[in-house]
Amino acid sequence: MNAPLKVGLTGGIGSGKSAATALFAELGVPVIDADIIAREVVQPGESALQRIADHFGSEVLLSDGGLDRARLREIIFNDNSEKAWLEALLHPLIRERIVERISQTGPAYLILVSPLLIESGQDRLVDQVIVVDVDEQTQMERTLARDGVDREQVEQILAAQMSRQARSARADYLIDNRGDLAALREQVERIHHALLKQACGE
Ligand code: ADP
Repeated sequence: MNAPLKVGLTGGIGSGKSAATALFAELGVPVIDADIIAREVVQPGESALQRIADHFGSEVLLSDGGLDRARLREIIFNDNSEKAWLEALLHPLIRERIVERISQTGPAYLILVSPLLIESGQDRLVDQVIVVDVDEQTQMERTLARDGVDREQVEQILAAQMSRQARSARADYLIDNRGDLAALREQVERIHHALLKQACGE
C-alpha cells in the first residue's frame, strides 16, 4: 500500500482551523493535531516535563505534578531566551511524535492541523498545505466570541503570528472562511475530492 499523502492545515487564530478539521474528520480523514501532541509531550512521566522542572524550578508544576502551562507561558512571554530554550527542547520532540503518528496512519491522506505549521517548519513534514483564511476583523470577532478573552490579548496573538499574506502564499489549497459554515463545508468537500484524487495518483 502507498504511504498516505500528508496534508498540513493551518491558519491564524480564529480563522476556522478546528471547524475545517472537524469537517475533514467527518469525511473520515485521519487527523493529527499538533496542539494535542504539544500537550502530550509534557505530560507527567515524560522526560521533557522533568527537564522543564529542572530548568524553571518547581514553580512551573501544579500540585498534582502536571505542568502549570499558564505560569510557563507567563515566564516565556517576557523572556525570549527562555522561550527559545523551551522551543529547542519541545519542537524536536513534537516533530518526532508527529512523524511516528504519520507512519501509523494508512492511506489515502491525512491531515496535520497546526497553528504554527509554517512558523515551526512542520510544513516540511507534509506534501500539501491547506490554509484557512479570513479577514482580521472576522478573526477577532470569532475568537472573542469563542474564548471570552479581551481584544488586546487577541491583538497580541495576531501580532505574533505570521501575516495573512505570507501564510496564504504558502497554500496549495486556500479556504476562504469569511462565509458561513455551509460555505466552509462546501470548500472542504471540494478539497477532499481533489486530495483523494491526488492521493490515488490521478
Ligand atoms: P481556529 O481553530 O482557527 O482558532 P475555530 O475553528 O475555533 O478557529 O473558529 C473560531 C470560531 O469561529 C469558533 O467558535 C467557530 O465555531 C467559529 N467559526 C469558524 N468558521 C465559521 C464560519 N464559517 N461561520 C461562523 N462561525 C465560524
